[in-house]
Amino acid sequence: MNSALFRNRSIARLSDAVRIDTQVFDDLGPVGTDPRWDVLYGFASYLERTYPLVHGTLKLEKINTHGLVYTWSGEDPNLKPTLLLAHQDTVPVQEATLAEWTHPPWSGFVDEENIWGRGSIDCKSQLTAILDAVEELISHGFKPRRTLLLAFGFDEEASGVQGARYIARFLQERYGEDSIAVIVDEGAPLQYKWGGLFALPTVGEKGYLDVGVTVRTPGGHSSAPPEHTSIGILSDLITVIESNVYKPWLDEKNPYLDQLRCGAVHGPRFPDKVRKLLRGHRERRPHETDALAEEIAKEGPRIRYLVQTSSAVDVISGGDKVNALPESASVKINYRINVGETVEEIKQHVLKLATQTAKKYNLTVNDFSNNSSSTAIQTNFITLGILKEALRPSPITPTSITSLSSPYAVLAGTTKAVFGEQVIVAPGIMTGNTDTRHFWDLTRDIFRFGVAMDPSGDDSGVHTVNERQNIDAHVKGTVWISRFIRNMDEVEE
Ligand SMILES: [Zn+2]
Repeated sequence: MNSALFRNRSIARLSDAVRIDTQVFDDLGPVGTDPRWDVLYGFASYLERTYPLVHGTLKLEKINTHGLVYTWSGEDPNLKPTLLLAHQDTVPVQEATLAEWTHPPWSGFVDEENIWGRGSIDCKSQLTAILDAVEELISHGFKPRRTLLLAFGFDEEASGVQGARYIARFLQERYGEDSIAVIVDEGAPLQYKWGGLFALPTVGEKGYLDVGVTVRTPGGHSSAPPEHTSIGILSDLITVIESNVYKPWLDEKNPYLDQLRCGAVHGPRFPDKVRKLLRGHRERRPHETDALAEEIAKEGPRIRYLVQTSSAVDVISGGDKVNALPESASVKINYRINVGETVEEIKQHVLKLATQTAKKYNLTVNDFSNNSSSTAIQTNFITLGILKEALRPSPITPTSITSLSSPYAVLAGTTKAVFGEQVIVAPGIMTGNTDTRHFWDLTRDIFRFGVAMDPSGDDSGVHTVNERQNIDAHVKGTVWISRFIRNMDEVEE
């Protein structure tokens, strides 16, 4: 895998994969009715042409038409399978940004260092690296003892409801609950931190909640208005919500706490103040002042929101005409829930603030439970609703190394072998969710790890213009996957 031939082939495969436009949109209809999904047929047949050994050796099953599940049966049926995930879809490219791309988003342009284009990192690099690794293992005559499963969803960027959700259901029917040894999905890259190089495989994700708030007041002519229209009242409520945000708070289960402990021991430039606070840190109740969490939150929003529930007021609408009073105004708010907090707590928090505002303006609140369409049109009401299926913070993958054959130990060992002994492996947490949100019942050992991402490439354009995959990092990622498959084959758990 260190040969020039392998490298060139691997570059060409990723570059060609990027050239197939697999954007997904939030308003896509079901598979089979919306023709915009059809691009995925082309992607699947591209994979078939490009990886002949994989397609000749592994069994491919298509789930909900475009979900791809590959099975490489192992010789020992008593070993639980390894499952590697990636997704075929990409986020869209905004038309207005086309001119800002150094190389067009579907060019797959290759220069000395990078492969350019939408999806080159997220997630076609991980996807082709997995297939490159398996193709290579087959060509070397490798035969797995442990079954290897590959699963590629096709709407991860739209929550995986048509892809990963169906795939997870399919695997659960076939293998049962808690039947998978380990799952590795896309996730955090290696990164320089506290004076060292850290691998921070994500072992937990925050929760997710979208809340809708609608204020309804009587309409009428705007020449004789009330003191506050529905828009004014809603604005007041938004101000209240934004001034009552959650505080940084580190639950004992939050993986960031373990990461800090690890950084304090191994990070040459770990801040003294944090080390001191860490020593004195004790378990505390939610919302209790947490000096350690407050100190680390000062690093900026990226770190802050690993230890704090976020709320973002993202969409607002109301009013149609400048001489007519708005009968309704509404807003959508996105919450990402801190480890240790619950969906129910956030709902109660919004309800409390909405009730205060309702009292002030003599309105009534329809709480989340009373959310039929008939109540949504009642006048002089503030109506609360959940816009999309809420998600609690994910279960936390165990990372205490009880034996050298635990999945975390295998992952850490593989990482040091491939990226260097100096790499410090510590648990990570993410503010977003990957397709793994659908796989919680299949295993407790879930890692989200961007093995092919460039540690120094913080400006590499994921989800924005000039997305580009570093070539060296891509090849290294392939080596990692190949090693990980073989290392999992050598342990008994
Ligand atoms: Zn992704």
